Amino acid sequence: MASVSTTTPGTDWEYAPAPESREIVTIQREYNLFVDGQFVPPATGEHFTTLNPASEEPLASVAQAGEADIDKAVASARTAYETSWGQLPGRERAKYLYRIARAIQERAREFAVLESLDNGKPIKESRDVDVPLAAAHFFYHAGWADKLGYAGLGPDPRPLGVAGQVIPWNFPLLMAAWKLAPALATGNTCVLKPAETTPLTALLLAEVIAEAELPPGTVNIITGDGSTGAGLVGHPGVNKVAFTGSTEVGKQIQAAVAGTGKRLTLELGGKAANVVFDDAPIDQAVEGIVNGIFFNQGHVCCAGSRLLLQESVADAVLDRLKRRLATLRLGDPLDKNTDIGAINSRQQLDKIEGLVAAGEAEGAQRWSPPCRLPAKGYWFPPTVFSGVSQSHKIAREEIFGPVLAVLTFRTPEEAVAKANNTPYGLSAGIWTEKGSRILWMAGKLRAGVVWANTYNRFDPASPFGGYQESGFGREGGRAGLAAYLDA
Ligand code: NDP
Repeated sequence: MASVSTTTPGTDWEYAPAPESREIVTIQREYNLFVDGQFVPPATGEHFTTLNPASEEPLASVAQAGEADIDKAVASARTAYETSWGQLPGRERAKYLYRIARAIQERAREFAVLESLDNGKPIKESRDVDVPLAAAHFFYHAGWADKLGYAGLGPDPRPLGVAGQVIPWNFPLLMAAWKLAPALATGNTCVLKPAETTPLTALLLAEVIAEAELPPGTVNIITGDGSTGAGLVGHPGVNKVAFTGSTEVGKQIQAAVAGTGKRLTLELGGKAANVVFDDAPIDQAVEGIVNGIFFNQGHVCCAGSRLLLQESVADAVLDRLKRRLATLRLGDPLDKNTDIGAINSRQQLDKIEGLVAAGEAEGAQRWSPPCRLPAKGYWFPPTVFSGVSQSHKIAREEIFGPVLAVLTFRTPEEAVAKANNTPYGLSAGIWTEKGSRILWMAGKLRAGVVWANTYNRFDPASPFGGYQESGFGREGGRAGLAAYLDA
């Protein structure tokens, strides 16, 4: 598939295609479950197909885990907890985590190409963000494994046992690393379920884990649909549940876990405000706005999906933003020049289209740069809505796509009130030259992460998590260790 520039023909640079080769990856025709250190066929006998969302080409057939498979995976994790992994001193666990981190680095290109094929994200993002950050999470947590007594969580914090972990499709490998690395560093064993549309990099990670010779059962990776996730989090043999995904499913899990004594962390949706004041460096802010909402096609829980512009600079910022968006290139995720890749699934594309139609019906003004979408696959152009009011659906609901809702404000107090006018509370951005205003705003915004004069920056040492309907518990940093320890 050719890359398609969103720029007006004749006014832009012509880029030659620069495709990353997919030769580096060997995709098997069929994948089984990774249980007790081996790949085993599912007891259900069922498999489902995972697609390349950029072309709708079937990539592989993947096992559907059922009740008996979940039982087996949890039992294997329990045995590993009681007899092998759970008995290892931290300094020994650290060695395995370093091994995994280094193997991810060694196989970085393979992971990046596979992630872009299965997810639809641009190769420059999987190569420069997802894969290096996944390795960084294992390195960071390897460093903690023998120092847990010095984490401020008591002299001898204990692991919880078996962790049941369910992850979404937007950062498949990275979310697997966010879940597995802290759980393993703290001495827990794991059963992880990747999302139905993006199981392949988790299964490649299973291969890495097998090669790193972790004791069998320490990590089990079971693929399947929502019913597999529900079966795992509801399993009586699980001590800790960690979930990243939609608020709707998060609420179901919270209800299922209530009263069971299981520990729970939920990282759910968001509707973050990215707030630009009139003294902000406009060009930098425009880059931050683009990165905030168009990174990973807007499939980001902390995406800056509501842009709050101070009225005096609103027109100037919007004008520059539109000029910048006209230079973004949408198309083949494996092309190194691509900025915007494919939408992950037909279902997600339908959701985006539905919410965008609601935005138009409610009277907001829709704009996209001139943009030719590839004929096959799931695509949506970068889209900006101006004239948005707080009551509009597109200002309230998580779209999880490349769609920005622009609102305006006059005073800092009004900016805070509008930013906080959401049931979510995951992240926010502030753009201003004034340090005092950054600190004042950060103190007033009800969001787990607040970025100042930047956006979408992640580091394993920095805790990430939300308030209200964005969930609870933190991942990353010292706070992230606490979620896996009986401190
Ligand atoms: P879900 O919350 O349904 O999926 C997340 C994970 O949970 C997947 O592995 C999913 O499996 C699994 N799952 C589904 N149902 C259950 C259940 N009852 N119990 C346990 N696990 C379950 O998100 P979707 O992929 O359906 O996306 C829907 C919307 O959620 C998106 O449009 C977006 O708005 C939001 N979302 C937010 C994310 C975030 O990080 N904040 C991430 C992903 C989505 P399976 O893939 O097989 O359905």
